[in-house]
Amino acid sequence: MVQVVSTVDLPSKQSQVWHSMEIGEAIALLQTNSDKGLNGFEVKERVSRYGANELTAKKGQSWWLKFLLQFNQPLLIILLCAGLVKALSGSFVNAGVIWGVTTTNAIIGFIQESKAEGAIAALAQAITTETTVIRDGQKVRIPSRELVPGDLVFLISGDKVPADLRLIQVKNFQVDESGLTGESVAVEKNLKILHPDTSIGDRKNMAYAGGFVTFGQGTGIVVATGNETETGKISQLMQQHSHLATPLTRKFDKFSQNWLRIVLGLATLTFVVGLSTRDFNDALEAAVTLTVSAIPEGLPAVVTVTLAIGVSRMAKRNAIIRKLPAVETLGSATVICSDKTGTLTENQMTVQAIYASGHQYALTGVGYIPEGDVIRDERAIDLNSDKGLQECLLAGVLCNDSQLEHKDGRWTVLGDPTEGALIASAAKAGFNQKVISRQMPRLDVIPFESDYQYMATLHQTSRGKIIYVKGSAESILKRCQLLLNTKGDSRPIDCVETLRQTTIEREVNIMARQGLRVLALAKKAVPDNQTTVDHTDIEKDLIFLGLQGMIDPPRESAIAAVKACQDAGIQVKMITGDHAVTAQAIARRMGINKNGSVLAFTGTELAKMDKTELAHVAEEGVVFARVAPEQKLRLVEALQSEGEVVAMTGDGVNDAPALKQADIGIAMGGAGTEVAKEASDMLLTDDNFASIEAAVEEGRAVYKNLLKAICFILPVNGGESMTILLSTLLGNDLPILSLQVLWLNMLNSITMTVPLAFEPKGLDVMKQVPRDPNEPLISGSRMKRILAISLFNWIVIFGVFEYIRVSTGNIALARTMAINALIAGRIFYMLSISQLIPNLIAKLDGTIEENVDVPAIGFGIIGAILLQIVFAHVPLINQVFETAPLSFQQWLFCLGVGSPMIIWAAFVNKIDPPN
Ligand code: ADP
Ligand code: MG
Repeated sequence: MVQVVSTVDLPSKQSQVWHSMEIGEAIALLQTNSDKGLNGFEVKERVSRYGANELTAKKGQSWWLKFLLQFNQPLLIILLCAGLVKALSGSFVNAGVIWGVTTTNAIIGFIQESKAEGAIAALAQAITTETTVIRDGQKVRIPSRELVPGDLVFLISGDKVPADLRLIQVKNFQVDESGLTGESVAVEKNLKILHPDTSIGDRKNMAYAGGFVTFGQGTGIVVATGNETETGKISQLMQQHSHLATPLTRKFDKFSQNWLRIVLGLATLTFVVGLSTRDFNDALEAAVTLTVSAIPEGLPAVVTVTLAIGVSRMAKRNAIIRKLPAVETLGSATVICSDKTGTLTENQMTVQAIYASGHQYALTGVGYIPEGDVIRDERAIDLNSDKGLQECLLAGVLCNDSQLEHKDGRWTVLGDPTEGALIASAAKAGFNQKVISRQMPRLDVIPFESDYQYMATLHQTSRGKIIYVKGSAESILKRCQLLLNTKGDSRPIDCVETLRQTTIEREVNIMARQGLRVLALAKKAVPDNQTTVDHTDIEKDLIFLGLQGMIDPPRESAIAAVKACQDAGIQVKMITGDHAVTAQAIARRMGINKNGSVLAFTGTELAKMDKTELAHVAEEGVVFARVAPEQKLRLVEALQSEGEVVAMTGDGVNDAPALKQADIGIAMGGAGTEVAKEASDMLLTDDNFASIEAAVEEGRAVYKNLLKAICFILPVNGGESMTILLSTLLGNDLPILSLQVLWLNMLNSITMTVPLAFEPKGLDVMKQVPRDPNEPLISGSRMKRILAISLFNWIVIFGVFEYIRVSTGNIALARTMAINALIAGRIFYMLSISQLIPNLIAKLDGTIEENVDVPAIGFGIIGAILLQIVFAHVPLINQVFETAPLSFQQWLFCLGVGSPMIIWAAFVNKIDPPN
């Protein structure tokens, strides 16, 4: 073992007084540096001393309790009681088998559930939160779990506070700490020293782990990590819950409870009627058999497996489910509201057009490669001929938080692609970002926020202090009173209104109509004693420097996905902070429309509408531009009021309410803020619209498979119960015994139904209209299906049993053959509803390329046949289950009796299409 030499002795007991000490004292106690942060060696040493910054998960229920809870289902309780009755009446073998089967069922349920929970928990784990720290004087992004006390953490709006921090710098810094304090309004932080007794909610110079930055920016020193944080101390709150309940499973539970009452009623009736024709034991057996046969024992396991498989299929297609109900809701989505930039488009920006000092320029070159020409009138220009253009390009580099990086032969952007494009365009004119930022160092910044649509920076230049601003044309132009000409002189704009309406605004439109994202740039000289920049500084008197228009190509895969959605009866709507004309051009290019038209509305227009008008517009509109986050929420509500099931994407801190309100809130795994992720039902790992479409597709398939499973299992219960009820009423021998029913309902059902959960999706899942979310589990046509197949099963069991009993006099043989014939029919039924044959045909045709999941269904069938051979031919089983071996002819007979199911099922499929 390596002996760790402790170089620091950090105060742990004083953690309660961080808020009442000077910043300098805190820095000294934590042995850190307020500019450079910790160095690599210190970090390493502290990691080994303090461990990872994560909460040790509170132990959930212990495994044995979870196991025992498996028995807490009405069905299993009844089975246990039935076993007890059997034991009391002396049939210990029967009792033992019933208990054995019950326990097996609980074990299967237990394993399934822990697997599903494990899978979901693992997915949640895979989503690491990141944080920005300053170490060795460098700003770096690291996983939050790697933080140590003393680390210098830099936070901006949308970030999650990763540990307990003593703040050392704040700028309009607001933190939502409702998780810890219960206070629902975000708190504005400051640096004032506080009285030691101040309660957590009022410690404004601290930020506590688990909080969310809702506004501004701040820097703080980590004073506690992991379990030592305030949240860690009450970590019960943070315990991870991975519930497996969804609206469907709840519907299901309710259905089971009602069903159980009916079954118990029928069982009592059977017992009473039975007493009149047979002795007590036989009457009891009839009642127990009826109970056991009427209850679909295998179903809960199948539902869980199907949902879990859905989750993992979605994960494979880049959609991580955070809340299980989303799996079902996705399948009934009717509207998808998607961000434009980065979700529908690549978010790979390249400046192609510039308008400066009254001239139009074009730029050559691709991507972020800083090579290309600035062209005017089809000729490369001498940059010195246009000072206005120079300033426009300079502003783009200075008012910028991003960097270009050359790595593995590729140019990429670290930070915001919009800003990356501005660095590349300036580079084409010979401006190097590093050189320029050294010449004109930055003194202060207002970071870009979608709400304001601009960013501003204050710089020290040889010509004095200058604020550079960039942002949307609307937000910048109204602040400009001056304009720069070719010589670099600013001249007053005599007719500001007219100019805006005519020249510049026209230029904005020219760019936007080509689908270019337009940024306006401006500057303002300020007095030499000014050291900060605030929103009020740039309210007016800016000098307009120019426009830069950048292309952001649509994602190819998103274009196909949009088409798939629209074919599937799902409306696609584009929600964006970008210019309406730009957004509309891109929507057209991507084929996003409603009945052929691409109506666009702006946030300003939406803000003026009342509820009914908004609902109408939300339905008819396709593009919603310059939309503020709170309008996203209104849009979701408006669409929902029209009965739509809405999926909505979001990434910003203010998108959380809209994400929560949406039926399916979708956050971006890459570009999304922690706040948005936390509020979402689903995460996209690749931020791509195509993944939403994929998830919808899988969601639809999951639901279909669930219904298939239900329609597969219930008719067997139906057939069995009808048989038993009738035989009891007639006073005949039972065609099937309780243990045999258990064999059928558990072993056979699970073997054959679980493969249905693995069914590939149907060929036309995306060619049907969305499912009505209020549709009952068992619709009218589905009920007909279940009854029709039950009827067939009843005829098979009852007919074969009576026929063999009469012709051979061998009751055990009659029962065995009745069950085998039933299973033969069941195999044919399975093939009739499976996607196997249609998909195989399509594959042979070459219509689809995907692999067809032959093995699952195949294993199901082979497994079922093997089980039946054991059932009929293993002496021990013969004894316990009262079965008898069959001759080859008798096997063929069973197969023959089951085969008309092919025709019957085809007929039923006409009434109730299975796919
Ligand atoms: P979206 O992500 O939907 O395209 P944003 O809210 O990011 O919309 O951007 C809205 C507008 O703000 C853009 O059209 C652009 O003019 C401007 N903008 C975008 N990014 C920046 C930035 N980093 N700095 C300044 N302005 C920006
Ligand atoms: Mg954006």
